[in-house]
Amino acid sequence: MSTYRGRFAPTPSGPLHFGSLIAALGSFLDARHASGQWLVRIEDIDPPRCPTGTSDEILRQLEAFGLCWDDTVCYQHDRDGAYQAALEQLRRQELAYPCSCSRKQWQDYPIYPGWCRSGVRDPNKPLAWRLRSDLGRRPIRWCDRLFGEQEFDPAQLGDVVLKRKDNLWAYQLAVVIDDAFQGISDVVRGFDLLDNTPWQRQLQAALDLNEPRYLHLPLVVADNGQKLSKQNHAPALPVSGDAVRGVLHQALIALDQTPPAELAVAPVHDQLHHAIQHWDIEKLTPHAQRRNPAC
Ligand code: GLU
Repeated sequence: MSTYRGRFAPTPSGPLHFGSLIAALGSFLDARHASGQWLVRIEDIDPPRCPTGTSDEILRQLEAFGLCWDDTVCYQHDRDGAYQAALEQLRRQELAYPCSCSRKQWQDYPIYPGWCRSGVRDPNKPLAWRLRSDLGRRPIRWCDRLFGEQEFDPAQLGDVVLKRKDNLWAYQLAVVIDDAFQGISDVVRGFDLLDNTPWQRQLQAALDLNEPRYLHLPLVVADNGQKLSKQNHAPALPVSGDAVRGVLHQALIALDQTPPAELAVAPVHDQLHHAIQHWDIEKLTPHAQRRNPAC
């Protein structure tokens, strides 16, 4: 039996668009080609950014594209206790510290200078929690399955926030805890997260968690060179009819999988069946970005 477990982990700040489809489809095909499992995790740790109903809308979009997941969907809003336990552990290891500094105070520095490492500057202010990126494993090395050997010094990236001043959990901690909780063996996601990986691997090492393999996918950008995103008004994926078939075909082209032209009008299950069989990451070009073929 395959030990591969992949995942798609959208933030429900808006419905999926073509750029998010690339991450979903790439991780799905990589998992299914390996006869592995594919899980969905809704990263809803920031409720003010997540309009009601968007998580369900995302799940309906995945279903429309035939991207059926295994197990039950994991919601990060249910995972507070696990994040708190991890933060406690890091605090005991002196790898996490409270910080009262505001962005404005250190705006003249490229990264947070670590002023609260040796004691909170202003204990009367709301406190965030930061990672001691200068301690723990350094440098961080891994081999990205597309972009090859990577080496970063987390201390040069800065002491990333683990828990925010408003008591909301930060992405870096939550993603690491939940990738381990869900037993993820392979992370496949957009290139924009490649430079977040060093903090995540540093946290995995500190917390003695399994370290997944990583495959970062070229980002699809719009004609103006900007990443497709909700902020850039990327249109939501369709959920019905012929539109879904055409968009799925375009997404396979964007993933360099050269699907046969006649499959462009085929039902999603036929397109996916072919794409799973022929999934080949050797066809992917290691560009940080690529144009949206649908534009
Ligand atoms: N939730 C993140 C996003 O929507 C992705 C997290 C990940 O794949 O690690 O951008």
